[in-house]
Amino acid sequence: MSALDTLLNDLIIANKVLAKEEIVDAYGHISVRHPDKPNHFFLARSLAPELITRDDIVEHDLECNSVNGDSRPLYLERFIHGAIFEARPDVNVVVHAHAEDILPFGIANGTPLRPVIHSGSFIGANVPVWDIADTFGDTNVLVANMAQGRDLAKTLAGNNVALMRGHGFASTGRSIIEGVRMAVFLPRNARALMKAKMLGGDIKYLSQGEIDGRNKGYSPYSPETWRTWEYWANKCGCGHMLSKPDDKK
Ligand code: MN
Repeated sequence: MSALDTLLNDLIIANKVLAKEEIVDAYGHISVRHPDKPNHFFLARSLAPELITRDDIVEHDLECNSVNGDSRPLYLERFIHGAIFEARPDVNVVVHAHAEDILPFGIANGTPLRPVIHSGSFIGANVPVWDIADTFGDTNVLVANMAQGRDLAKTLAGNNVALMRGHGFASTGRSIIEGVRMAVFLPRNARALMKAKMLGGDIKYLSQGEIDGRNKGYSPYSPETWRTWEYWANKCGCGHMLSKPDDKK
């Protein structure tokens, strides 16, 4: 299997993992940058992530047009992906989803989402909230063009995740495994923080040192990271699609 085939295979696994973990449902998507053409990325056609197969993956340019003359309907919100890839050369994976547990933190002013648990450290110390109304006034709150995507990318800036007011989140990763991990642990961290707030008292957030320590020396194929990926892939029935870490260059 070529490196590109392996990458697209992993993208299919990622779609099914995100569905199984209830990060996406009929809506939500994950993309990966083309490893040889940094101005292109791969994202499925408009389809629920759980149903995606190899034939559904469409190569897009950064303006979010299909590059191979594919005329099937594309995701309306593909501009989230193109604009973040355009603004962030360090980002290779983008996830957009509407996971319910993060929504309150995009709505309640003055209640930032911050890391409170070990696996939540990946989201980084600062999770900005993007409000489409600030620039575009009354819309249907969906990111439907490049101008809106770029405005979101501007708010994301150098952070790992941005919340989208009344809508969902956009998260990033350097690899597919990291992108999936970020998207799965983001709502988990939000749930823990929400429940802690319900208990009352002061919240003890992770320190900057705890956040930095967790993210130092990251390897997508470390035994610990691979164990998670292997677990998730098997849980969603994709264990047979895994390529071993030894196969990766
Ligand atoms: Mn959306």
